[in-house]
Amino acid sequence: MKVTEHLKRAKGTLFSVEILPPLKGKGIQNIWDMLDPLMEFKPSFIDVTYHREEYVYKKRENGLLEKFSIRKRPGTVGICAAIINKYKIDTVPHIICGGFSKEETENALIDLSFLGIDNVLAIRGDAIKTEAGFSPDPDGHNYAIDLVKQIVCMNKGVYLDDELVEASSSNFCIGIAGYPEKHFEAPNMKSDFKYLKAKIDGGADYIVTQMFFDNSKYVEFVKECREAGINVPIIPGIKPITTKKQATALPKVFHIDLPDDLLDEIEKCESDKEVREAGIEWCINQSKELVKFGAPCLHYYTMGTASTTMRIAEKVF
Ligand code: FAD
Repeated sequence: MKVTEHLKRAKGTLFSVEILPPLKGKGIQNIWDMLDPLMEFKPSFIDVTYHREEYVYKKRENGLLEKFSIRKRPGTVGICAAIINKYKIDTVPHIICGGFSKEETENALIDLSFLGIDNVLAIRGDAIKTEAGFSPDPDGHNYAIDLVKQIVCMNKGVYLDDELVEASSSNFCIGIAGYPEKHFEAPNMKSDFKYLKAKIDGGADYIVTQMFFDNSKYVEFVKECREAGINVPIIPGIKPITTKKQATALPKVFHIDLPDDLLDEIEKCESDKEVREAGIEWCINQSKELVKFGAPCLHYYTMGTASTTMRIAEKVF
C-alpha cells in the first residue's frame, strides 16, 4: 500500500523507521535482529537507504596505489522485497540520482514494480565521500526533481524508449526529502523552498524531513510550506543522540543545529551511557510534542540500531 494511503487511513500519528542495508559480507539476519523487536509497534512502512559507491585506494606490491570502486552497503531492493515477504509491511526503497544513468534508474524502477513495491523515496544522493561535491552520472539526473519527473512518466506508462506503445504503467507513491534547517548547498531558505515546491509540483506525494532536535524548526517548516502552497503530508524524521561524539558529528554531517538545552544535558553527562539516556529522554519528549502538534507519522532514523527506537516507541505509541 502507498505511504499516502497509510496516512489517509490513520486515526492518529503513525510509526515508521528507516534502516540501512548491512555492510557487504553481513547477512540478512542483521536486518531481522533489528526489525523483529520493532514489530510490536507495527511500523506502517520501513524505509531502506541506498548507498553510493565509494573509492578506496589499495597499495599494490610495486608500492603504487590502485583506485577501486566499492559499494559498502548493497542490497536495498532485495531487502525491501524480503521485508515485504517476511513481515507483510510496506517498504520504501531510497532511489538516488548519483551513480545511475536514466536507463539504469528505469530498470531499477521496473524491478521494484515487478516486486510489488508501491513506494520510493526519490533523492539526489550524497556526493561520493572522496569528492568535493555531487556529480551525476553523465547520462543521469542532476537533481531529485528530474528523478521525480522520470518516475511520474513511468507512472503514466511513458518510458525512455519512445517507441514503446501501450506500455504498462507503474504506480509509485513518491516521497522526497525536505530540510527544516535548509539543505546545506542552498544559498538561502527561500531558494530551498522554491526547489522543494518544484518537486511537489513535479509530482511528489509527500515529504520526509532531515533530522532535527528542535521541534520549532519543524513547526516553522510546515507553516512555511503551507504558505508556499505545499500541501502534501510532511513526515518528521528524528533520532536520539546516543554518544557525546554525535553532538559535534551530527551537525557536521547533516548540517543541523542542536538546541542549547540538549547540549547542556549532554555536557553534564560523564559517560556515553548517560548521553544515551539523555538522548532517549529528549527524543521521547520531542516525539510526544510532535504527536500533539499533529504530525502525520514519526519516522525514526535507526542508523543501524533498534534498541533506542524501541525505548522511544514504548513511551510514545
Ligand atoms: P535535491 O532536491 O536535488 O536538492 C539538492 C540541492 O540543490 C538543494 O540545495 C536544492 O535547494 C538545490 N536544487 C534542487 N533543485 C535544483 C535546481 N533545479 N536548480 C538548482 N538548484 C536546485 N542520501 C543517500 O545517499 N542515500 C539515502 O538513502 C538518503 N536518504 C535520505 C533520506 C532523507 C529523508 C533525507 C532528508 C536525506 C537523505 N539522503 C540520502 C541525503 C540526500 O541525498 C542529500 O541531502 C542530498 O545532498 C540532497 O538530496 P535531495 O534529494 O534533497 O536533493
